[in-house]
Amino acid sequence: MVPLAFPVKRILVILIATLALSLQGCTPENQKPLQHVHQYFESIRNNEALLTAFFSEMPKGGDLHNHFSGSVYAETYWNYLLRKNPWFDTVSLVFEYDSIKRINKKGDYKRFISLPELIRKNKLPDMKQRILQVWSVKDYVDSEIPSHKHFFDSFGKLPSGGWNETGIGLQELQNRALRENVQYLELMIKGVPSDIMPENADRYTSLLKLKEYTDTVALRPVLDSLTQAFRKKQLSKDVVNFNSILLSVHNKFVPDNNAVTIRYQTYVNRRAEPVKFFRDLLLAFESAQTSPLVGGINILSPEHGDVSMRDYKLHMYMFRYCSQLFPEVKYSMHAGELTLGLVKPEDLTFHIHDAIYIAGANRIGHGVDMAYETDALTLLQYMHDKKIAIEINLFSNEFILKVKDDKHPITLYKNGNVPIVISTDDAGILRSNLVHQYVLLAKRYPQISYADIRTFILNSIEYSFIKDQALKDALYTSVKTKLESFEEKIIKNTRLHSTKV
Ligand SMILES: [Zn+2]
Repeated sequence: MVPLAFPVKRILVILIATLALSLQGCTPENQKPLQHVHQYFESIRNNEALLTAFFSEMPKGGDLHNHFSGSVYAETYWNYLLRKNPWFDTVSLVFEYDSIKRINKKGDYKRFISLPELIRKNKLPDMKQRILQVWSVKDYVDSEIPSHKHFFDSFGKLPSGGWNETGIGLQELQNRALRENVQYLELMIKGVPSDIMPENADRYTSLLKLKEYTDTVALRPVLDSLTQAFRKKQLSKDVVNFNSILLSVHNKFVPDNNAVTIRYQTYVNRRAEPVKFFRDLLLAFESAQTSPLVGGINILSPEHGDVSMRDYKLHMYMFRYCSQLFPEVKYSMHAGELTLGLVKPEDLTFHIHDAIYIAGANRIGHGVDMAYETDALTLLQYMHDKKIAIEINLFSNEFILKVKDDKHPITLYKNGNVPIVISTDDAGILRSNLVHQYVLLAKRYPQISYADIRTFILNSIEYSFIKDQALKDALYTSVKTKLESFEEKIIKNTRLHSTKV
C-alpha cells in the first residue's frame, strides 16, 4: 500500500532534486517538452515515493470504474453509525439500532453493548478499529479468510443510509477527487429500486430457466411478453421517482463545478433471479435513457457466484434485447473478473467474449481473464476496431484475485491497442486511491511510457459516458490543458534546479 500520510512537501523537494540530477547534461534546450517529462519519469520509475508525488501532481482526468458504496471510506460509515446510537455485538461486530431485534437474537443479546457504555469504558477506539477491519481491507491478514470473500462480505456489513447519507458520501468523493487532481467521476451509484412483479412471475421464471438459450430468437417472445407485463404495472413510475431524487441530491450536494464533474451509472445485480434481473435491467436502461445524469449502466456482484455463473449467457441475451429497446444507452460490463482456481478453466474462456459479441458492451470492467478467452487475439482486435475500452483496476485485481505483475493482462490490451483507462474500483474498501493505481502501473510495467499514461488519461474523458457532448468536449480540453501545465511545471522546476546546481 502507498503510505497515505506521506509528507508531500518533503517528497516534492526530493522529487525536484532527483529531477535535476536525472536531467543534468542530457537535456538539449530544443528537445520536445514531452521528452523532458519522459526522461524524468523513467528516472523515478522504481521509486514509489517519487512516483506518488509525481502522480499526485498530475491531472488524472476521470475515474470511470468506481463503485460509490465501496469508494466511501469506512470512517465515514462509522461516523454515520455513531449518529444512529447503535448497540454492538462485541463478538460478531454486527450492530443493531432496535432493542427488540437485539433481544430476539436468542441468548446472544448479552454480548451487545451500548454506545454510551463503550464510551464510559473507554472502549470506543478499540471497537472502531475492529469495525474498520471488517468493513474494509484495513490490516487484512492473508491467512484468515480468502481475500475475495473478505472483500465482497464487507459490502454487506456496511450500515445503509438514506439519500442524505448518499449526498454526504458524494461530497466526500468529490472533495477527494479535487485533492487528488481528478476531474471526473463516473460512479456506479445504485440500482433503481422497485418491488413491482408481473402476474404469473413463476411461469416466467420457469420459461427463462427452461433451457440454455443460444440466441435471442427463442428468447424474444418471452422477453416481449415480460416487458409488456412490467409496462402494464407502470414500471416507469419507479424510474421517474429515482431520476428525480438523484437529480435533487446531485444538485444539493455535488452540483457541477469547474473542478470536479460527477455523472452516474445505475446497475443490475447479477445474483438476482431471472425475472427480477430483467425487471431491474429494464429499469436501469430506462433510467439511463431519460436522466441527464445517468450516463450508462453496469452489471455487478461477484461474477463467480452460483447464479452469476449459471445465468451468465441469459444475462448477456437480456442486455442485447434491452439495447434494442433503448439503442442510445451505453453500458460497461464487469466481465472476466475471474482467474484460474476461482472457477473451472472452461469458465475462463467466454465471459469477455459474450459481453462484447452477445451483449454489445461499450466498455469492459476488469477483463482479467483475457489470456484464457477463446481466440483472445481476435477479441482484442475487435475491441481495438470498435473502440471498446478496458477499465484496468490494478490494486483491486491484486487484492481480490491475486493477479498482478505479468500475470495481469494489461500488456495484452496494450499490445492489442485496446483503449485503456485506469480506475480504482472500490477505493474505500480497498484503502486505496487513483494515485496508487498509477504508481503500481509505473512500477510494474516498464513497457508503459509516460506518453501511454497521457493517452490513458485523455481516454478517461473520451470513453466516458457523459451525454452532453459540449460538456464532454470542454472537460477533454480542460484536462489536456491541465496536463500541459503539469508538464511545463515539471520542465520549469527541472531547469531552475539545474541552474542552481
Ligand atoms: Zn467493479
